[in-house]
Amino acid sequence: MYDPKSMKAEEFIDDSEILESLKYADENKSNVEVIDAILEKAKERKGLSHRDASVLLACDIPEKNEEIYALAEQIKKDFYGNRIVLFAPLYLSNYCVNGCIYCPYHGKNKTIPRVKLTQEQIRDEVIALQDMGHKRLAIEAGEDPVNNPIEYILESIKTIYSIKHKNGAIRRVNVNIAATTVENYRKLHEAGIGTYILFQETYHKESYEILHPTGPKHNYAYHTEAMDRAMEGGIDDVGLGVLFGLDKYRYEFAGLLMHAEHLEAVHGVGPHTISVPRLCPADDIDVNDFSNAIDDDIFAKIVACIRIAVPYTGMIVSTRESQKSRERVLHLGISQISGGVGGYTHEERVDETAQFDVSDTRTLDQVMKWLIDMDYVPSFCTACYREGRTGDRFMALCKAKQIQNCCLPNALMTLKEYLVDYASPETRAAGEILIEKNIPDVTNEKARAVLRDRLVAIENGERDFRF
Ligand code: SF4
Ligand code: SF4
Repeated sequence: MYDPKSMKAEEFIDDSEILESLKYADENKSNVEVIDAILEKAKERKGLSHRDASVLLACDIPEKNEEIYALAEQIKKDFYGNRIVLFAPLYLSNYCVNGCIYCPYHGKNKTIPRVKLTQEQIRDEVIALQDMGHKRLAIEAGEDPVNNPIEYILESIKTIYSIKHKNGAIRRVNVNIAATTVENYRKLHEAGIGTYILFQETYHKESYEILHPTGPKHNYAYHTEAMDRAMEGGIDDVGLGVLFGLDKYRYEFAGLLMHAEHLEAVHGVGPHTISVPRLCPADDIDVNDFSNAIDDDIFAKIVACIRIAVPYTGMIVSTRESQKSRERVLHLGISQISGGVGGYTHEERVDETAQFDVSDTRTLDQVMKWLIDMDYVPSFCTACYREGRTGDRFMALCKAKQIQNCCLPNALMTLKEYLVDYASPETRAAGEILIEKNIPDVTNEKARAVLRDRLVAIENGERDFRF
């Protein structure tokens, strides 16, 4: 029985509700009247239900699909402007007791070396990341109560925040670790994490259980209800995602939006971010074994439809996607990307045995130049979380389209820091022009004046201003 307010996974991700929504979408995918009515609703920029959004995803009328793409692009500009936030993943440990059949870190894979970074190694990695210019990390670790207990994760977070190399600092650590207890989420919250990210992988319960045959992750309900426990533990910002390609993408899409509706209904706050990973080849994993793998066109359509359905939610794409694919979806709704990804110093680094093949292997400076050349403002901003603008406070600002008043000046200041401290001469020259070009878009006169002063101060060596 579908009930977004239920605390039971099988009720807020109700299989029959998804199937009925997909049936409704199929019946209406060529119905101009229905699609126009949904598009009108979408233009109010208050989001769409999973059922309406499923119709847009299924829509097979080329002109209407063009309207969907154009609307997604416009909504993205309205809520987020032209800034793109950058982060780097840091793999702490690839020890894992789970049996996820699509991931090379699964416990039974004996062909990869297992690596767990020591605090000293983490320190070196973080210095290397700071020297590239990163300010935001997403730490990742497999699930292994013996090798990666919560104490190890907490100690690692402490280490990361403690390092200040030259002008560098990691100002926000997002955490992507296995579903855990309220008590452990509380500890993560107290350690000052930014977003807690956990991918659902698939919302289809039967497939989920087949794809996760062993280990604690086998428990669908425990995994699916993790975000509720995280919020109970005090974490305001949670990040959802499915691994597209495991099951039918339209099913996953509806499930993902129902999960967002559930968080909104129960906690009054939707997901802070949604990630859109899709199946990629890796050691021990052949993508051809998965018949639901999606192509670039469907991927782009999913991004556009999520953008329209949850306008206030940040969307993340990783370096698993190629430069070409990332370029396409940046226009359609992505607001955050990883860049300059790699094991940063250690020979036995975790991601030499990569969880998934990285398609975009450019350096951070190359990614910065690429964004600047496309007129995006690359941003290392971490201001909201440090100003206490999290959870419902953040969402209220975002829904009122006020967040841009913070995003743009913060993006320009953190870009300036990057240009002064880390950029190549070409990137610096292009970045300075971009900053000048964007200053007039800070509409508040007082804020614009403060911004100008702070840009000069950054040039003179001061750091870490924020709006
Ligand atoms: Fe372990 Fe995560 Fe890989 Fe599953 S996806 S095997 S939980 S590292
Ligand atoms: Fe993100 Fe807030 Fe910074 Fe905008 S101001 S980029 S929403 S942290």
